[in-house]
Amino acid sequence: MQIGVPLETAAGETRVAVTPETAKKLVAQGHAVRVQAGAGVAASATDAAYEAAGAQIVDRATALGADLVLKVRKPGADELGLMKAGATLVGMLDPFDKDGLAALAGAGLTSFALEAAPRTTRAQSMDVLSSQANIAGYKAVIMAADRYQKFFPMLMTAAGTVKAARVVILGVGVAGLQAIATAKRLGAVIEASDVRPSVKEQVESLGGKFIDVPYETAEEKEAAEGVGGYARPMPQSWLDRQKVEVAKRVAAADVVISTALIPGRAAPVLITEDMVKSMKPGSVIIDIAAGKGAGGVGGNCPLTEAGKTVTRHGVVIVGETNLPALVAADASALYARNVLDFLKLVCPKDAAAVQVPMDDDIVAACLMTQGGEVKRP
Ligand code: NAD
Repeated sequence: MQIGVPLETAAGETRVAVTPETAKKLVAQGHAVRVQAGAGVAASATDAAYEAAGAQIVDRATALGADLVLKVRKPGADELGLMKAGATLVGMLDPFDKDGLAALAGAGLTSFALEAAPRTTRAQSMDVLSSQANIAGYKAVIMAADRYQKFFPMLMTAAGTVKAARVVILGVGVAGLQAIATAKRLGAVIEASDVRPSVKEQVESLGGKFIDVPYETAEEKEAAEGVGGYARPMPQSWLDRQKVEVAKRVAAADVVISTALIPGRAAPVLITEDMVKSMKPGSVIIDIAAGKGAGGVGGNCPLTEAGKTVTRHGVVIVGETNLPALVAADASALYARNVLDFLKLVCPKDAAAVQVPMDDDIVAACLMTQGGEVKRP
């Protein structure tokens, strides 16, 4: 089968869906891999490395005109115009974007959104949300350390003692756990909050302190348990008590990394403007939920500006929306392996055409469009 790998064109996108490592494996499976010239350059993968892996370097129209197109981000209108009806698309296609899915259906594509894979053991090797969130959590801390004008570790020097930075992590999913581990390696003192009670043990095992907000009603406990490992919106009564506890920790913090998300909904506001005002000058907030607040504005902090770093009330607020793209080589390496693993389900060795085995729960969950219709809004 012809597999096309175009250069990503979304602003700031540096990742690539196939690396020389995975191209070699696809070629060994009997596929013709066509990579757009320069597609991997921002992720440290040269055209020569793809050629050495057995791929062909082609122009944009050829890469997008393949039977199977592998991408990182959903295609824009110009890209859709170069794709052929009946082709298959695999990528992070934003399953909650109704208009985006309608455009894919309108272009006659069979499309698979990898973000929609279930959070099961079998799907772990193709879990793009996890592979990329892990990188986001790491980079958020590295970025905070870079912006913060003090040390992270406690230092005892001849010139006196420097206190360790206090880092508060809000939301302890994949990104939050990696943020705790990374901040710990740098010597910070860590406190973390999440709605899900199962997280407490994980925070403690990484050397952080869990900000306990006990559940007082059956409704609160049930919401906290979530669905399929994901959070559900918490009752206001619990959120009010969480706010009080978080506010105390944020006021004392040097760095806040917020990662709290609820799939398909606006990110909850956890750091209010008053809390920002209470922080010490020079403190840093890295809001991984940037651009995911109500109406696509703000994040876990309403003062966050997506794609920008701003200083408000003396606090530096970083609203970077694509942290994995800032670690392009490893983000691509992990993403490309996720894609390769997914292809085993729909594009077995030597297959002449993509298959859509709907009895496979991962395939069924990821299928977004087929035959001109949106299958899973
Ligand atoms: P996510 O990106 O959807 O959300 C980040 C975190 O924010 C979550 O931990 C969520 O509980 C938290 N959050 C939401 N509202 C909050 C609030 N008001 N206050 C504080 N925190 C809030 O989460 P994710 O990283 O995708 O992970 C979700 C879960 O899925 C985790 O338990 C993770 O370990 C699990 N997971 C399982 C598998 C698997 O079994 N294969 C794979 C990956 C992740």
